Amino acid sequence: MTENLPVHFIVTFFINRLKSSINKSKPWITLHPQPNNLVHDPQSLTLASSDYGNMVKEIPAAVLQPTSINDVVHLINYSYNNPIPFPVAARGQGHSVRGQAMAKNGVVIDMSYLRRNRKTPGITISRLRSTGEIYADVGGEQLWIDVLNAALAYGVTPVSWTDYLYITVGGTLSNGGISGQSFRYGPQVSNVVEMDVVTGKGNMVTCSAKKNYELFHAVLGGLGQFGIIARARIALEPAPNRVKWIRMLYTNFSAFVKDQERLISFNERKQSNALDYLEGLVLLHHGSPDTWRSSFFPPSDHPRIISLANQNSIIYCIEVAKYYDRHTQSTIDKDLEVLFDGLDYESGFKFEKDVTYVKFLNRVRSGELKLQSQGLWNVPHPWLNLFVPKSRILDFDAGVFRDIVLRRNITKGPILIYPMNYSKWDSRNSTVIPDEEVKMKTQRQWIDHFGSKWTNFRDMKMKFDPKYILSPGQRIFNV
Ligand SMILES: Cc1cc2nc3c(=O)[nH]c(=O)nc-3n(C[C@H](O)[C@H](O)[C@H](O)COP(=O)(O)OP(=O)(O)OC[C@H]3O[C@@H](n4cnc5c(N)ncnc54)[C@H](O)[C@@H]3O)c2cc1C
Repeated sequence: MTENLPVHFIVTFFINRLKSSINKSKPWITLHPQPNNLVHDPQSLTLASSDYGNMVKEIPAAVLQPTSINDVVHLINYSYNNPIPFPVAARGQGHSVRGQAMAKNGVVIDMSYLRRNRKTPGITISRLRSTGEIYADVGGEQLWIDVLNAALAYGVTPVSWTDYLYITVGGTLSNGGISGQSFRYGPQVSNVVEMDVVTGKGNMVTCSAKKNYELFHAVLGGLGQFGIIARARIALEPAPNRVKWIRMLYTNFSAFVKDQERLISFNERKQSNALDYLEGLVLLHHGSPDTWRSSFFPPSDHPRIISLANQNSIIYCIEVAKYYDRHTQSTIDKDLEVLFDGLDYESGFKFEKDVTYVKFLNRVRSGELKLQSQGLWNVPHPWLNLFVPKSRILDFDAGVFRDIVLRRNITKGPILIYPMNYSKWDSRNSTVIPDEEVKMKTQRQWIDHFGSKWTNFRDMKMKFDPKYILSPGQRIFNV
């Protein structure tokens, strides 16, 4: 049933070893007369020259603290019409890992300032009279956790998430926005209906798949290269109340992969017997079954899980979730039984939790707060995210998990691995699914990364940001 699935796997390593490399550079730009709300104080410059990765430091000349999107329009216009245009980067939460939201000697837009100080609502929930569809109009600076809470107040919710919700809508839509829901609902970039974008020429443009579609698709997954997302309209659906959250342990990688693929083969959006979420983890023998990003396993079961990991050196865990509400609570257990029938996990190693929808979606937050309280959140995060083609996933286990990670004892951080369906990605968007590492230093490597999409990506840059003003920290055009 699963052989012909066009599946790619995302593998995420959270490696905590590398040291930071700090690039000390001097700002050179003098802005006169200056746009509104530019600041140069050390505290603002320090914030704008740091990110979650803690490995890159690029000092901007100034930071824009906008109180409305007009301030952003004004700034980009000012740069575009300057004899020497200066680089500009939107900084959402700065949760990039390699300086992608920085602008050396340019201006960083502190989008969190806009979130805190805007005079108009940042999130509005509405129903389209013509079709009855419900959607959220959301400022690019808004956090996904706030979008969730605002939508739930109306009994609705976005359907596609990231594991962590304290990041901005503009930040994830510039990348892709993936999680365990992507196999069924597509990444976040596949769930946007319309946007307002400030282009690199300083124009505010409304775009959708029908109107100004080139800009729309270029911006989605466009790494901030074509415009600043001022507003995104996000599709919403009725919200469930509760979640059955289940993990199953495997000692055999082939069986683990086969079962993951089988479970995501039920993937139609409206399919009632499909799972809502599927991810996977790699557990190594020297670690605890739980990691900072999730405490799941009952403490009383830790010894036997550790024993299974010790016997096998490395074990694998399928993590799934199925949502339910009062209409489906009498059938949820039976539905899951049918879905799990014939799975090849280790007997006695299935663990289940029943939690609220919010607790499930916001599951990484408690780990973050704990690390913050221990002063361990702001450490270097040399994370690696890869898409691996299905055809090479067994080689990846043998060559990387076993031969490198395990043998050389490289990481104690979480390793996630989960499949997605290629068909859920909109090929018109800028996002690409490469089979190689995404961090690249030269334009030649970016050309390889984008493959057949490169020509269009470059053409869109010429059209919407011809002076190479936006998001220089991605190092695509500003190498
Ligand atoms: C703990 C943690 C867990 C994560 N889990 C996931 C996950 O499960 N799935 C996933 O997909 N990602 C995940 N991420 C990665 C995250 O989605 C990206 O790093 C995202 O870019 C962070 O958003 P941000 O608001 O911090 O963006 P920033 O780091 O501030 O910016 C990222 C890029 O987007 C540009 N940008 C920011 N705002 C805008 C805007 N309004 N318009 C245009 N461009 C803009 C910036 O210039 C920059 O180039 C995780 C990150 C962390 C720290």
